[in-house]
Amino acid sequence: MAHQAPYQILLYYKYVTIADPETFTREHLAYCKELGLKGRILIASEGINGTISGTVEQTEQYMRDMHANPLFADMVFKVDEAEEHAFRKMFVRHKKELVTLRYEKPLDPNVVSGKRLSPKEFHDYLQRDDVIVIDGRNDYEYDLGHFRNAIKPTVETFKEFPEWIRKNMAEHKDKPVLTYCTGGIRCEKLTGILLEEGFQDVYQLDGGIVTYGKDPEVKGRLFDGKCYVFDERISVPINQTDEDVVVGRCYHCGTPADHYINCADDTCHRQHIVCEACEEEHHGYCSPSCEENWTARTSLG
Ligand SMILES: [Zn+2]
Ligand SMILES: [Zn+2]
Repeated sequence: MAHQAPYQILLYYKYVTIADPETFTREHLAYCKELGLKGRILIASEGINGTISGTVEQTEQYMRDMHANPLFADMVFKVDEAEEHAFRKMFVRHKKELVTLRYEKPLDPNVVSGKRLSPKEFHDYLQRDDVIVIDGRNDYEYDLGHFRNAIKPTVETFKEFPEWIRKNMAEHKDKPVLTYCTGGIRCEKLTGILLEEGFQDVYQLDGGIVTYGKDPEVKGRLFDGKCYVFDERISVPINQTDEDVVVGRCYHCGTPADHYINCADDTCHRQHIVCEACEEEHHGYCSPSCEENWTARTSLG
């Protein structure tokens, strides 16, 4: 029998009206702690977005309980096996929006959003010559891995997207536009913006990159590199075929690498890609000055 990993990591979201998000946040935190889960959950009046880890038993219980709530009865959970927790603590936070945006119009994905494509449909669209493919994530996520031929948005945070679209994408309004992100939540809004901005033919990858990677037919084939994730794993493999390649580049020497680390200087903490040799040579610091600073400060005893 195949080895059954003792832990699971869940990724999920749902845009649905939550009447009293503050109370729900408090109760949900108490419930998650009691269950023994760890992770990060955001709750807003527009819905819920979470990524959590726990034992198989704890996470299965969580999914059963959530599905028993009419609000979340049809919530889709993406499940990864794991050998341990992927988080250190349990956070449940109330926020104004699930995805922070700088946009003048209200966006409700249940009203305006791009057409959803299954992994197979998205895979077929990707191979057409007339489509524009926009990576709906941040630049550092793109740098580690992305769909072949996808446009890298020059944004450091999601809220810069509306401005970036107006400045860079206006000429493509008559073409079919595909977007994708990690699990799908950002595209629900990104495609809404594109439609509001006058794009006609707008599509989103349903369930995001992680769902594409699990699809038994496409096997992640057109995704190059690794997928950045917001937990202690930092990245996960997507492409299960022999076409898998490394697209990341070592911050120090430029050779192909796909291992992200945080600078060992706690006051810097710059997240950067390193190769094995450079991680050893630079001791996990992003620069000589970080190494000097940190050594000087911590040796004062
Ligand atoms: Zn290197
Ligand atoms: Zn540093």
